[in-house]
Amino acid sequence: MTAADFELAYGVLPEAMLLATPSGRILAANEAAAALLNRGVLELAATTISDIAARPENVARLLSLFSRNGRLMPGALTFKNGASEIVCRVEGALLPTPDSKALLLRLQPQDDAVKRFRALNDRITELNREIFDRKQVARASTLLSAIVDSSDDAIVSKDLNATIMSWNKAAERLFGYTAAEAVGQSITLIIPPERINEESEILARLKRGERIDHFETIRMRKDGTRLNVSLTISPVKDVDGRIVGAPKIARDITARIRQEKALREANEALQRANADLEQFAYSAAHDLQEPLRMISLYSELLQQRFGGKLGAKGDEYIRFTVEGAARMESLLRDLRIYTQASTTEYGAGGEADANEVLKKALLNLEVAIKESGASIISAGLPRVPLHEFQLEQIFQNLIGNAIRYRSNKPPCIHVSALPQDNEWRFSVQDNGIGIDPKFKEQIFGIFKRLHSASEYPGTGMGLAICQRIIERTGGRIWVESELGRGSTFYFTIPCPEPAADRSGAEELFDSSGRG
Ligand code: ADP
Repeated sequence: MTAADFELAYGVLPEAMLLATPSGRILAANEAAAALLNRGVLELAATTISDIAARPENVARLLSLFSRNGRLMPGALTFKNGASEIVCRVEGALLPTPDSKALLLRLQPQDDAVKRFRALNDRITELNREIFDRKQVARASTLLSAIVDSSDDAIVSKDLNATIMSWNKAAERLFGYTAAEAVGQSITLIIPPERINEESEILARLKRGERIDHFETIRMRKDGTRLNVSLTISPVKDVDGRIVGAPKIARDITARIRQEKALREANEALQRANADLEQFAYSAAHDLQEPLRMISLYSELLQQRFGGKLGAKGDEYIRFTVEGAARMESLLRDLRIYTQASTTEYGAGGEADANEVLKKALLNLEVAIKESGASIISAGLPRVPLHEFQLEQIFQNLIGNAIRYRSNKPPCIHVSALPQDNEWRFSVQDNGIGIDPKFKEQIFGIFKRLHSASEYPGTGMGLAICQRIIERTGGRIWVESELGRGSTFYFTIPCPEPAADRSGAEELFDSSGRG
């Protein structure tokens, strides 16, 4: 074949073709080869295969594959292609030419093969991943069934026709049916006849895609006995989002329900006993008043009629009787106030203007304020949901204490209130003798005092009364103090709306016993 024959036969063929001598000198190239190798047809015809190969050493190897039967073993060659390279599959045949023999070569770019190889590789990876995922799923499902089986809670799955699909070991223990007995049966197997409607309600909720959490109900064992259970049931959907089943976890709460019932009964009994005791204390305090009044009356008469006639000892005895009766009267009065603090008479629904109530309390303490030269300062006290009488009791006790437990300085007392979320926090601060912090809880107990009556008069009931009133509103009372550094009593009163929304009367109130 001559270059002209080649041009005639392969010039316009879409496949890249070269005509070369057996030693690799190119005799002719077609347009497709020129395009593939990015060179001109004439340029190619003036060069050798080694010149255009990226690794010329491979050309000799390829040409040596030329076999005696006149066919070339196909092989791959990398050609220079401008700045890059192109890998081609090269195959060809030995043709006779007028003067000697020539090689007719066909070049096939290997890009397609590479692409095919990559695609194949990707598919293999994908298949591998699928196999791995399936193994994972299998492993996870083995793990899951081990967990389900070892669970202490009964785990039962059912389809949307209420047919039991699975039944774990705990379900066997709880309900008394083996898995073989239960699977395939309707779930109504364990529903008491009187609660049979529950199942349709549950199924309707599940069909709506709702999850049922801690639904407390009663289920039935194989032997017919009932048990309290807490059920958690959630719908299971398939890949298309259709609900295909509903696994149910049932926890036996019979013991808890029994304990709760016992606790509730004990609580009720305690409340009844407490109410009886309070009623008793109130009646005792009330009924003792009458005979006590007789004792005070007659001991005072004794003092008037026979005072000075019975000798010093006789006078002293009569004085003790009069003082004892007076003290007992105060104790009984405070005990009555204390028990009254929990009566329904002062239930919810009160409303008091703390500024006004403070004024009333100070009026009651007028004598003590004057005698001690106390000054009381307050600002912006709010309206609070409490009965006026109760707030008066609180102020009177706290301010009365602040005056009574004064140091050698004239008492200086600050009353204020701060809004905090849904409550007001009041404070009553004094500059008195202070309290050892180790007694800061004790002082709120009934009849609890830190001083003798001769040192400081008192019944030990004031703070107990305050605590009772405040705790019944849902508030708290506490003290911050140190010996010799004054005390601050805090108490909170909850309000239905944020405390800051209730306007405090911005009135600076200064009541001074001096001057
Ligand atoms: P009472 O004052 O009648 O003894 P309380 O219940 O009001 O009863 O107070 C209990 C005790 O707390 C008092 O005996 C006193 O020791 C102490 N206390 C209360 N308020 C103050 C105060 N503002 N400063 C110092 N001590 C106080």
